[in-house]
Amino acid sequence: MGGTKKIALHWQILIGLILGVVVGLIINAAWDAGTWSSLGVENPALWVAGGPAEGVNENANFVARTTRFIRDANGFIGDLFLRGLRFIAVPIVVFSLIVGASSLNDLSKLSRIGGKTIGIYIVTTAIAITVGLVFANVVKPGSTRFISTETRDSFVAQFGADADAKVLAAQKPDVWDTVLNIVPKNPFEAIAAGNMLQVVFASLLVGIALTMIKREKARPVIAFFDAMTDVVIKVVEIVLIIAPYAVFALIVEQIAELGLDILGSLAVYSITVVAGLATMMFVVYPIGFKLLGGVGYGRFFAAMSPAQLLAFSSASSSATLPVTMECAEQRLGVKEEVSSFVLPIGATINMDGTALYQGVAAVFIAQLYAMDLTIADQLTIVLTATLASIGTAGVPGVGMIMLVIVLQSVGIPLEGIAVILGVDRILDMCRTSCNVTGDAMVCSVVANSEGALLSESEVAARADHPLDEDPVDEGRLD
Ligand code: ASP
Repeated sequence: MGGTKKIALHWQILIGLILGVVVGLIINAAWDAGTWSSLGVENPALWVAGGPAEGVNENANFVARTTRFIRDANGFIGDLFLRGLRFIAVPIVVFSLIVGASSLNDLSKLSRIGGKTIGIYIVTTAIAITVGLVFANVVKPGSTRFISTETRDSFVAQFGADADAKVLAAQKPDVWDTVLNIVPKNPFEAIAAGNMLQVVFASLLVGIALTMIKREKARPVIAFFDAMTDVVIKVVEIVLIIAPYAVFALIVEQIAELGLDILGSLAVYSITVVAGLATMMFVVYPIGFKLLGGVGYGRFFAAMSPAQLLAFSSASSSATLPVTMECAEQRLGVKEEVSSFVLPIGATINMDGTALYQGVAAVFIAQLYAMDLTIADQLTIVLTATLASIGTAGVPGVGMIMLVIVLQSVGIPLEGIAVILGVDRILDMCRTSCNVTGDAMVCSVVANSEGALLSESEVAARADHPLDEDPVDEGRLD
């Protein structure tokens, strides 16, 4: 990376992100229908995709070719990066969870850490929904003061078909089936399909079984998975070389397509969601990682920011997982035995941002349809949104599909989903960042309680701090 070597990775990513927003907004503003028609082009989307049309002037041809090139190049870099991260997502869960579970040695330690982890995950999720509900009830973003019934109906007319598809995609949850489905019939199939909950289950089971067989037999197997975990982390470092450029590309693509206009009539709703998420990230979590994790504000955010920024630009906590693990271990100083156990589980079941968003969205839609939600209804939302967020896969847009279940639980009209569909991607980016921050916070708390968190000076003293350096130059062969 030559010239950029001195700038820490999180700054590079942040610069990519800000530039991406700026360029995306410029493209969005410049290329409205008026610009195209001034070049004599009637149907820009088709035309840019399909190539120059007859009878259109040279300038327009040039512009179309350039637009197409920029779009394709951006799409290529963004997709390349996401593919790289997805490539790692399943192996890192498998290898690190097997090592994590088996290195906890005895079952009592495993169940203690497991119990703590899952307990804190559920508590933070319930807190997040409560924060969301408080914001939504106080601000009332769905009242007619902020959004008229005409706007609501026009959104339903515009996005109704898309919303129906989401409703169809949401499966009615059956508790027995849901629990049963955690157990894979065939672990290899689960791995191939990337079914994270099943992969987590299978890996934990193998890790636990390894602690139950003879030590000398288990040792080489654990050593193998341990080495594979290092290999995968090396791959993360390689993939991260293009992170700043990829973040730029991903953001340009989204912002150029969406613009900020869509936020207009949904501004108050969007601000309510973002304010709730910010409260979690900058007020609630710090209470956790400072008081219970013993990590200061600056230290936490400096360590975790690459993961938070990647979560924001990819809208996928699953794809971000390898980077979250790298940040927690190398930069925050969490020992691998804890991070390799707590984080993969968090990326699969702990979605505080998604749960908060579902709470706000449910109340918002209820307000749009002038429905009064009783305290019992709101408690039902806390419960179903907790479960729905656990069942949400860490990939873009799934939180919105799972929202259907929350709405159904209290009889809120499902067509309201059409109203919020337009801003879903932007809010998905924000909630994913919160999801990842929540995982890292819990990781610091569990690590601290287990004496598995290095002090700041120990982290600084450690020779390898790969994320701030040129990742490939410096092999960690020691
Ligand atoms: N995109 C979110 C995540 O990966 C899930 C969601 O809320 O849609 O964490």
